[in-house]
Amino acid sequence: MIPVLGFDGAKVAVLGLGRSGLATARALAAGGAIPLLWDDSPEARAKAEAEGFAPTDLTRNGAFDGVAALVVSPGIPSLYPTPNPVIDRALELGIPVDNDIGLFFRSFAAQGFADFDTPPRIVAVTGSNGKSTTTALIHHILQVAGRPTQMAGNIGRGVMDIDPPVDGEVVVLELSSYQTELARALTPDVAVFTNLSPDHLDRHGGMGGYFAAKRRLFTEGGPDRAVIGVDELEGRFLANQMGQGPNDDRVIRISSAQKLDGFGWAVFARKGFLSEWRKGRQVASIDLREVSGLPGAHNHQNACAAYAATRALGIGPKQIEEALRSFKGLPHRSQLVGEKGGVRFINDSKATNVDSAAKALQAFPKIRWIAGGMGKEGGIAALKPLLGSVVKAYLIGHSARDFALQLGQTPHEICETMERAVARAAAEAEAGEVVLLAPAAASFDQYPNFEKRGEDFTARVKALLGA
Ligand code: ADP
Repeated sequence: MIPVLGFDGAKVAVLGLGRSGLATARALAAGGAIPLLWDDSPEARAKAEAEGFAPTDLTRNGAFDGVAALVVSPGIPSLYPTPNPVIDRALELGIPVDNDIGLFFRSFAAQGFADFDTPPRIVAVTGSNGKSTTTALIHHILQVAGRPTQMAGNIGRGVMDIDPPVDGEVVVLELSSYQTELARALTPDVAVFTNLSPDHLDRHGGMGGYFAAKRRLFTEGGPDRAVIGVDELEGRFLANQMGQGPNDDRVIRISSAQKLDGFGWAVFARKGFLSEWRKGRQVASIDLREVSGLPGAHNHQNACAAYAATRALGIGPKQIEEALRSFKGLPHRSQLVGEKGGVRFINDSKATNVDSAAKALQAFPKIRWIAGGMGKEGGIAALKPLLGSVVKAYLIGHSARDFALQLGQTPHEICETMERAVARAAAEAEAGEVVLLAPAAASFDQYPNFEKRGEDFTARVKALLGA
């Protein structure tokens, strides 16, 4: 645990008592603060009570008397579409609103750092898609290179839960736009921006607000190195803003679409090869086609981002190449879960939006596509140009009929449930084809989360294959 610095003896309100909220409360208490905890859900409050915290109702009048700061969980709106009433009250009273990420950055560098040979460093990864994969890949490369490293943030472990860093350690954080929007301190040594596509627009008041939230990671903290995906306009804008000129190698541009061999420092993937260029010369090249844990151009983009971030930390190309080969991929992201008779079964349950589903559809040539769930605005209209690789779609969940209408001439069948979709797709699939779960929709109509959806798919595939 990282004790929170700067609030010794002060009252700090904590709103939202999920995993990160409770970790924050413990870290505040460890740093000498008096945490006042609240969550609208009685179950969440009961969990806090079980840990020995007495909840304080932050919705009642006077709840903020003598409170130094309010720390909120990422799931709770602080601005758009409307702020949670507790946050609104803090805004009215001028109480600083922060989150665990802000507390983490202000508390990370402790006194012991002066005795270290190499001060611990922080790599922070943001972007619309590929954050988790890139974060896990950076962590894996560091492990293979024998560097002490921990991974946290949006990827399963609250930032406050990490162990105090050791000499030379690199902490790799995955940060969502909700987290970067609010954190009052954001000072990574290396900041990574994978890509940008519309998502969570209701929480950010549109695309401009969404980009602005992510951009804070770079503009607030002034990282030593900024790794930036330049395949969208926003990335090009940010890369331009972070650099003093074309050859300023504090910025490493990455791309999975363009050859970036002109100037500065760049890492790009084309036709399955990753290349690193610096000052107009090629430094290294890696064949990604045989890297089974990172299939498709989208994963090649993640490989470029992780390569660039770890090069910025001084790791050599050969070691990175070795680590890319041994990376197994993350569950529910283009994950191979079974193979029989030349048919591969791929679980990409994390493809909850059209953009990530588009990447999955482009990663394989002949697809039996399981899609549907709680569709987002616009349904799958944006996927029309990519349906050439879909042999047939098997539609599930709330949006099955809407998706069917948008599929037009592409063969499809309404299956309603995962059980039926897997059975039908497996029965009809031929050698060389892929049965792909890439729903292009949220899971909440049929599952508590995308993980459970992916697990259901995997279990049904395994049962069918007798594995
Ligand atoms: P995030 O943490 O940003 O949600 P993940 O690594 O968990 O990213 O991947 C989320 C989804 O997006 C998965 O369906 C995955 O296959 C897809 N994906 C992964 N990397 C990229 C990328 N660079 N661009 C677009 N889609 C991606």
